[in-house]
Amino acid sequence: MNDATPNPSRCPLCGQSNRCTLANPALAGQDCWCFSTPVDHEALERIPPELIDRACLCPRCAAGLKAAEQA
Ligand SMILES: [Zn+2]
Repeated sequence: MNDATPNPSRCPLCGQSNRCTLANPALAGQDCWCFSTPVDHEALERIPPELIDRACLCPRCAAGLKAAEQA
């Protein structure tokens, strides 16, 4: 009964910290990495509908799975 509430600081795809400055009081006021990093549209399509606009992707997932495989 503890996974029903989306965690805004966790990536909805892999569950890792998304390092979103908007969800981290310690980083509040800084530009989030997502402002300067292009987000793969395929990654966006993989986000569960209930988590869209609730949780940010992590940098790795936002870059796309293909980019991750090539690295
Ligand atoms: Zn992720």
